[in-house]
Amino acid sequence: MMRRLLVANRGEIAVRVIRAARDLGVPTVAVYSDADRGALHTELADRAVCLGPAPAGASYLRQDLLLHVAEATGCDAIHPGYGFLSENPGFAASVEEAGATFVGPPAEVIAVMGDKAMARKAVAKVDVPVVPGSPDAVSNVDEAVAAAAECGYPVLLKARAGGGGKGMRVAGDEDELRECFTLARQEAAGAFGDDGIYVEKYLQRVRHVEVQVLADRHGRVIELGERDCSMQRRHQKVVEEAPSPALDAGRRQDLAGLAVRAAESVGYVGAGTVEFVLDMDTGAVYFIEMNTRIQVEHPLTEVLTGLDLVAWQLRIAAGEALQADPPPRRGHAMEFRINAEDWKRGFVPAPGTLTVFDPPAGPGIRVDTHCRPGAVISPHYDSLLGKLIVHGADRDEVLRRARRALSEFRVDGVHSTVGLHEWLLTQPEVVAGTYTTRYLTEALA
Ligand code: ADP
Repeated sequence: MMRRLLVANRGEIAVRVIRAARDLGVPTVAVYSDADRGALHTELADRAVCLGPAPAGASYLRQDLLLHVAEATGCDAIHPGYGFLSENPGFAASVEEAGATFVGPPAEVIAVMGDKAMARKAVAKVDVPVVPGSPDAVSNVDEAVAAAAECGYPVLLKARAGGGGKGMRVAGDEDELRECFTLARQEAAGAFGDDGIYVEKYLQRVRHVEVQVLADRHGRVIELGERDCSMQRRHQKVVEEAPSPALDAGRRQDLAGLAVRAAESVGYVGAGTVEFVLDMDTGAVYFIEMNTRIQVEHPLTEVLTGLDLVAWQLRIAAGEALQADPPPRRGHAMEFRINAEDWKRGFVPAPGTLTVFDPPAGPGIRVDTHCRPGAVISPHYDSLLGKLIVHGADRDEVLRRARRALSEFRVDGVHSTVGLHEWLLTQPEVVAGTYTTRYLTEALA
């Protein structure tokens, strides 16, 4: 095992990583910005070091400072969490060059999967189906038009460096494509520092289904089942569930096989997620991207398999081998993202001070959070207050437990999305499990 772990993140994921490390007996060092002074993760770690001012660029994204803190505090490994530097190949390489372990895949693997156009090419080579579209990033509008003519409109223009649901534009015909091409490029350059874009057919009725994989340093890749993340707003996940209500046993096995193949094609190491869209009109599944980090919704897989995925990230980083057989999956689970947002007014972020924070408990309930009464929700970071994870024997039990748990959840001082989830659980499409990725936007309209 590593000697000491630097946790290069904040919020609920920093808390989550520190807890896993402590369970393994690994001492931790937390980092924080001025806005996070006194935050839970700084208290749970063995030591905490201030990085600087609140803006992430001046604190959590300061690679030089993080490497310096790791060295000064005797950390021989760095866990990046999600967001921030978690998918930055340059940071992963610098950590390794400094003689420490980056808890994640090798820098080259992050680089391939972080470029969505390159990732498409890599997995297509091993016969994992990708959404029809351009074979690579397009260098001009005529190439984009040619690719669109081949796969048919509507198409999505996607930033190859995109993430977080940003950097996507739908074009319904050639005129629209020509009109938005330059803008899409400029937006990509502005948001991701890379103006590379590619074309994908825009599928109208899809479910987002992703497969969790774990890969050790000895060449073994296992799959741990899928999560369905079709409840989305602006291409961002709002509720996730597992297993997917849209897959039968055969399709589930096919998808798992594709995910393992995709991971193997790039020599994957660590915890990763292979994302697919399932076309509800044709039944086809297509790879869309791979996330080379722990994901927000990882607890769904944990409650179904009984594995601690963050602990496994650390064990894999330390060289431990995976067991041959993936564990069986038990029951059904749903995760509700509780955000500090005013969902009745366009989901505007609602920073402020929590006066009440009283999460539910009881059978089948897990809440991953960094919040407590008095915590200040800063406008500088994402608005996630915590995640309510509900586990049960079957989907019906989960729906009943979720209603009960949400009715117990007290948040005051800031707006939260608890009420949105309560409303969703009264909707027939949600109860039946038939919603697609467009459902939430249309239901709210
Ligand atoms: P990001 O990296 O920003 O999360 P993704 O490529 O994972 O972007 O896509 C995010 C979401 O956008 C998907 O979950 C899905 O809802 C939607 N999406 C992506 N590609 C397509 C597509 N070709 N057709 C329809 N919807 C898509």
